[in-house]
Amino acid sequence: MLTVRNKFSVAHAILVFALVVLLVAGTSARAGDQPKLVLQITVDALRGDLPSRFDNVLGDGGFRYLMQDGIHYTNAHYQHANTETIVGHVSLATGTVPAAHGMVGNVWYDRELDRLVYNIEDSDYGLLTAGADVDQQTEIDPTQKAAKVDGRSPNNTLTSTLSDEMAIHFGGRSKIFAVSVKDRGAVSLAGHAGKAFWFSKASGEFVTSNYYYDKYPDWVIEWNARKPASSYSGKSWELMHSSSKYLFGDADDRAWEADFAGFGRVFPHAYGAADDKYFTTKLTLSPAGDELTLGFAKQLMEEEQLGQDDVPDYLAISFSSTDYVGHIFGASSLESEDNIARLDRTLAELFAYVDEKVGLENTLIVLSADHGQPEAPGYLHELGIDKAHYFDTDALDKAPAIAALKKQFGIGEELIEEYFHPYIYLNRELIREKGLDQAAVENAVAAELKKFKGVADAVSSSALRTASLPDTLLMRTILRNFHPKRSGDIFLVFEPDVFINDFDGLVVASTHGSPWRYDTFVPVMFAGAGLPAAKLSRAVTPYDIAPTLASYLGMKPPSGAVGNPLSEVLSK
Ligand SMILES: [Zn+2]
Repeated sequence: MLTVRNKFSVAHAILVFALVVLLVAGTSARAGDQPKLVLQITVDALRGDLPSRFDNVLGDGGFRYLMQDGIHYTNAHYQHANTETIVGHVSLATGTVPAAHGMVGNVWYDRELDRLVYNIEDSDYGLLTAGADVDQQTEIDPTQKAAKVDGRSPNNTLTSTLSDEMAIHFGGRSKIFAVSVKDRGAVSLAGHAGKAFWFSKASGEFVTSNYYYDKYPDWVIEWNARKPASSYSGKSWELMHSSSKYLFGDADDRAWEADFAGFGRVFPHAYGAADDKYFTTKLTLSPAGDELTLGFAKQLMEEEQLGQDDVPDYLAISFSSTDYVGHIFGASSLESEDNIARLDRTLAELFAYVDEKVGLENTLIVLSADHGQPEAPGYLHELGIDKAHYFDTDALDKAPAIAALKKQFGIGEELIEEYFHPYIYLNRELIREKGLDQAAVENAVAAELKKFKGVADAVSSSALRTASLPDTLLMRTILRNFHPKRSGDIFLVFEPDVFINDFDGLVVASTHGSPWRYDTFVPVMFAGAGLPAAKLSRAVTPYDIAPTLASYLGMKPPSGAVGNPLSEVLSK
């Protein structure tokens, strides 16, 4: 009897203990059933290895919080061919590939309008601030420069975003916002139902369009009136640590770095006076752009009371500096290294603020990037990798082979209507008028392009439509980028470490946008909300993020989502 009773009481004790453990685990992990805030951070052009590569200059509470306390996927790659900003951002927002969401490039040729269009331009929705649109005189971003009309909206995104699904699921009670220096970094993630703010280099303020608001909330007017950008007037971007702490501490001056409008190739980089015409541009080419973004996002969280009730809210912040710094100085530069160190402090400040206002245990954080980054050929040459080089686009038109082709078809200079990487657009009207077969011309031009030095492949859209191409990894990435109404006639792929670096006279160190692994590789990190720490090397994709968040929140996935929910995030 004694033995039996003892057995019973031991079993009973174990059961009670297990229940207590479950209850404690349940309450400590999350206060309610849902997180109060979903915080989606995108770091523009953060190649997957960069945070750990520059670990020597990181502090606590930023990237280390994500990498050590969160779930870190170390093998995440995009699977579409054109790894550009809008393509990646919308893929993160929608959980799908450009073939479905439709944002095939930062710029594409609109056949109905008969001109190039910028991905989010929309003349129906003007900006609320006069003079805040792209200034054609000073704009250096070649894709924004392509915008022909003022006004911005998400209407070109064809499938729903995670933020849209939150609006639908929670009956419109979720507060949904997105903030970035780049307009396309914010408009993409706010989706169709949320609200977006971005930094106007022309006005030096955070602005929005009347897609989102009829007039600014008072707090935005007040924030802009304080002129936070002007606080950098006369200051410089300086090294955060002593130079001995950096991997590239003794290699500041590199010949391949771009010296933009007096910003220089070595520290300190002077922003100039606030009335200098490139002052705000220089802020975006440095960590200052991210610092301004953080300042605006913190004010937004406070004023809009994000994460303060039981309905989950959504805040997307896209930090753009890493991309611009990479373009100007290259991924392996002292500037890129210091930028990561300062971004790390920006993230630490953000997480500390969220912890104070909402609680990290109530906040589901995800960080990723819209694409990775290549290395500047000059850097590779130093290491003996001589084949890396820039591609001269002017050579395309002058090439005898292309001239011969034009002659053969009886078409003059107008055969190639437009080339905006990665797509070449042929003059379809002329091809029709001459009674030529569109597919035959596309294939003939593609066949010639393939012969150019530095070109890995040139794939015609006719061939993609008829599925008459070999089923290779490269072909699949191009197919995932193919949208029949927006994609050009030929997709041009350069060999690894070959790219264009001259954009109407703006010469940069490096340009992403390839299907190669350095451009597809991004971090995927989840943290907060009681998630356990884990480091996982299994292959995942950034398309998995939106379906994971949807599943976590108990919602249906975005309308075109192809990614899979990540079990480790859902397992607790
Ligand atoms: Zn980007």
